[in-house]
Amino acid sequence: MTSELNSPIDAPLEKVALETYRPPAKPSLIGLSREELSELLGECGVGEKQRKMRIAQLWHWMYVRGAQSFDAMTNVSKDLREQLNAHFTVDRPEVVAEQVSNDGTRKWLLRLPGDGAGRAHEVECVYIPETDRGTLCVSSQVGCTLNCSFCHTGTQRFVRNLTAGEIVGQVMVAKDRLNDWIDRETPHANRLVTNVVMMGMGEPLYNFDAVRDALLIVMDNEGIGLSRRRITLSTSGVVPNIVRTGDEIGVMLAISLHAVRDELRNELVPLNRKYPLKELLEACRNYPGSANSRRITFEYVMLKGVNDSMDDAKLLVKMLKGVHAKINLIPFNPWPGTKYECSDWDQIERFSEYIFNAGYSSPVRTPRGRDILAACGQLKSETEKLSVRERDALRAMAMTD
Ligand code: SAH
Ligand code: SF4
Repeated sequence: MTSELNSPIDAPLEKVALETYRPPAKPSLIGLSREELSELLGECGVGEKQRKMRIAQLWHWMYVRGAQSFDAMTNVSKDLREQLNAHFTVDRPEVVAEQVSNDGTRKWLLRLPGDGAGRAHEVECVYIPETDRGTLCVSSQVGCTLNCSFCHTGTQRFVRNLTAGEIVGQVMVAKDRLNDWIDRETPHANRLVTNVVMMGMGEPLYNFDAVRDALLIVMDNEGIGLSRRRITLSTSGVVPNIVRTGDEIGVMLAISLHAVRDELRNELVPLNRKYPLKELLEACRNYPGSANSRRITFEYVMLKGVNDSMDDAKLLVKMLKGVHAKINLIPFNPWPGTKYECSDWDQIERFSEYIFNAGYSSPVRTPRGRDILAACGQLKSETEKLSVRERDALRAMAMTD
């Protein structure tokens, strides 16, 4: 591609996975589609006629009631429960630490099966309560394939993709820890996890199949049942899979834009060399539903002296003409070793006001959970840096409540 050849940047666009993944000997049923469950039940000797009913029961126990063992599934025959127990689990990722911020934000460090050589893989998941909603920020990869220069995750190695079960599992863990499952006593109580954003570690559109399968389960009306309008997938701009997201998932879309000129975006989001702004915006214009109420969110991280001039604001407004958009300004979260700084608050306000006056809603995302390092671009990496003693203390904390 010409844009790539002309690029001054020689770094490879994408990293390859460093580690393989060995599924656990007894796999979890979390994250499997009804078709996959049907096949497994067949292998357990459940006849075809009975399967639909058994799957409906399992689905209800797993995704409405949040059952953590087959033993809890009292209307499933004892024989089948024993069979299931022998071969499968309903395990979610293991919580190794839980932190609660003084603003109510919660962060969980989750351990996933590793490479079989004793090295576990870890991701984080963050719950942000607000007055009218509770948003869960979910990870899609351990590390990230891409190398955005302002993002701490981008500087780390890419370990592996998460499975669909590990993605749904993050929602299950949050609901477990927040006591957010439906039970007989509170069938109509308000739910705490009302929204999901794919904005944790990783590029969701480089793990498309697993993310799609997981989100279809999170949206399934017989289960967790979140509306597609309450799920937002954030991407750095994997154009072909934006089209697939529209066709195969249909959730709300957020684009990590961060720059309005290709030259600068090539540097901040190197994937731009493969899918430049023109192609990205074309994909946004064609995103299903974006013409009416389903506005696309454009995320724009405020970097002092880099992308925060009034000329940038003007170009941004011009560029988004004809796209039904919402602009989300994110104050940059600095990390050790970064060359960037967050824009001055006055400048963020001026920038935001210009965009607002041009007719765009332009909320500045207030960083939440700063005291527990739960803000954008800080996930997992900081926890990794804690000393062994600090990590033990966190683990002990998680186990006492
Ligand atoms: N990979 C996806 C989703 C995860 S990142 C994506 O890039 O969209 C979620 C958001 O946090 C993205 O908009 C990303 O650009 C932003 N982000 C990453 N590092 C950040 C930092 N240090 N400060 C502020 N925002 C950051
Ligand atoms: Fe990956 Fe998103 Fe970070 Fe870029 S901003 S490196 S795509 S997680």
